[in-house]
Amino acid sequence: MSEITVYDIERKAKELYGNKKPYITLEEWTKKQVELFNSTEGKLHLKDGYSCPYCKNKGVISKIGADGAEVHYYCRCMKIRKSLYEAQNSGLKAVLSSFTFKNFITDAPWQKNIKDTAVAFCKDENAKWFFIGGQPGSGKTHICTAISAFYLKQGFQVKYMNWCEDSKRLKGVINDFLLYEKEFSLFKKAQVLYIDDFLKTKGGEEPTKGDINLAFELINHRLMNSGYITIISSEKSLRELGAFDEGTMSRIYQCTGQYKITIGADKRKNFRIVH
Ligand SMILES: [Zn+2]
Repeated sequence: MSEITVYDIERKAKELYGNKKPYITLEEWTKKQVELFNSTEGKLHLKDGYSCPYCKNKGVISKIGADGAEVHYYCRCMKIRKSLYEAQNSGLKAVLSSFTFKNFITDAPWQKNIKDTAVAFCKDENAKWFFIGGQPGSGKTHICTAISAFYLKQGFQVKYMNWCEDSKRLKGVINDFLLYEKEFSLFKKAQVLYIDDFLKTKGGEEPTKGDINLAFELINHRLMNSGYITIISSEKSLRELGAFDEGTMSRIYQCTGQYKITIGADKRKNFRIVH
């Protein structure tokens, strides 16, 4: 049985009324419905902070389908919103809106250098590895979050890894092969991975053999896949991290190229103690 389309109905209307239009045609009516829908403002941006000019924050766009009827389809911003939603549920929530490039303080030349390097990294399509090392309070989380937000808004899937907590969780399930692989692959295979406080341990002691192995497995997997983007922050410099695993750190050193920064241990550089 063939479906009745708006054209069938319109033909019937023409038979009945000739060229005198008693009402607006179905085609005109549908067009008006589509226009009305597309001009209506939605509210999704109030939830996730992302403003979309295409769907006016409804997440859905209306158009006239092949059969002449109105059809709705998901706007491209829904993919971005999904990434934002995931990021907001994975440790980045509190900082996504406040830790932006715009809000990054660049009073001192070393701060300007951090921002310029990060912005250049985002603009460079061939750049896949970013590293920033240095003392707490020097803006590492801020700049890495701003980079993450940049990729989120480009529609990339961004995963946040708090090394201290997530490495402990992974090591806890290492004997359950399937669970370990499932959990670990979320970090290994993320389009963009932001590793916060790389190789940091809870008590501040040196990383164990287990930590080093985990770091090697993760970094090695991501190095093998040239499309992945990896953003790393650490309280240590790459040279200091090299004392734990020289091979892995020298590969990060090479891959980051011009996009690595180490902030010197200077108390005046600490955001938290400057008033
Ligand atoms: Zn949209």
